[in-house]
Amino acid sequence: MKVYLDNAATTPMDYEVIEAMIPILRNNFGNPSSVHAFGRSSRAIIEKARKQVARLIHAKPSELFFTAGGTEADNMVLRGAIDDLKITHIITSRIEHHAVLDTAKLMHQKDGVKLSYVNVDNKGFVDISHLKQLLEENKNLKTLVSLMHANNEIGSLLPLKKVGDLCNEYDAYFHSDTVQTMGHYPIDVKELGVHFITCSAHKFHGPKGIGFLYVNENIQLKPLITGGAQERNMRAGTENIHGIVGLAKAMEVAHRDMAEHEKQIKGLKYYMVEQLQQVLPEVEFNGDPLGNSLYTVLNVLFPHSEMDEMFIYNLDIEGIAASGGSACSSGSVVGSHVLKQLGIDMERPSTRFSFSKYTTKEEIDYAVSVIKELFRFNKKEKVKRSIGK
Ligand code: PLP
Repeated sequence: MKVYLDNAATTPMDYEVIEAMIPILRNNFGNPSSVHAFGRSSRAIIEKARKQVARLIHAKPSELFFTAGGTEADNMVLRGAIDDLKITHIITSRIEHHAVLDTAKLMHQKDGVKLSYVNVDNKGFVDISHLKQLLEENKNLKTLVSLMHANNEIGSLLPLKKVGDLCNEYDAYFHSDTVQTMGHYPIDVKELGVHFITCSAHKFHGPKGIGFLYVNENIQLKPLITGGAQERNMRAGTENIHGIVGLAKAMEVAHRDMAEHEKQIKGLKYYMVEQLQQVLPEVEFNGDPLGNSLYTVLNVLFPHSEMDEMFIYNLDIEGIAASGGSACSSGSVVGSHVLKQLGIDMERPSTRFSFSKYTTKEEIDYAVSVIKELFRFNKKEKVKRSIGK
């Protein structure tokens, strides 16, 4: 049996999305910048998609810029903020995605921007009072706060509205990487008070290599990629028209079926928690899986066994795809910066299982039965070997 439980890394494409993209790939090859009919029809398709996406997040079409995904959109915000908004201070957390973390560090090293890290607790929740304190202490600096909506490894959620209100109170810009939550939660940019959010279509059954950046209409950024005048001079390069159509379709499907999928996926996540606790009572969970947590992600801290570093590979051999988070003794895999930061025992295997609307109860049952067997076998091996010594 093949079981895909790595949906936070990427999701399989929805059939409806593929169907929407095929005619574009077949027929709409015109360059959207061309003035002739072929070009104009491609341009019209892009602008229709932009309107559809904008409506779903309560933005204006002119506030959306299509990018090659989440990493590019995050880079546009952080680099653009330094150059164009004259930001002199970034507040972020040590458990952000590397697209934010590494870019913020670079901005600090290269441009001398002050970099502050807000405290997070051992479940990955941002300490809001510390954030307030950092904003208060740096009132004289122009600050950008960049905090992700949901952590991609452990799923802990940020109260977006609360942080948005706080940033507005201190006249700070607020960017949230919503790559893991877009298409899974309703997002209303106007209500939340965010200045920037970022999206990647392949995290909700859309194609890879396409995403968008939302920029509040009162903010002017310069492009990261220069060249042609595409995306109203904000992102040069011939548009990924089939990708844009795929993104819009994936957003439409995700919003149409959101409540139903949330219920189904959350149910599977809770079921897996329950089943794992039954077969392996020593099991623990990273983050706060049954609390304020992204329903697609479950990060499990397994007990020590003979197989520690090999656990994820053993799952793979049995057909189960998941993500490892702990350090690998070979040194070839760098341990997760998120788990390290939260003080989680890196000697024990932590594994992220992440679900989608295509995940079934049978798949969870299979995964749990494999995990049960792996631990039974490895405990037995341990006993045999200690007897032999
Ligand atoms: N931000 C977060 C939270 C992510 O989980 C990811 C993908 O893993 C990214 C950004 C990067 O997105 P992309 O793969 O579209 O560059």
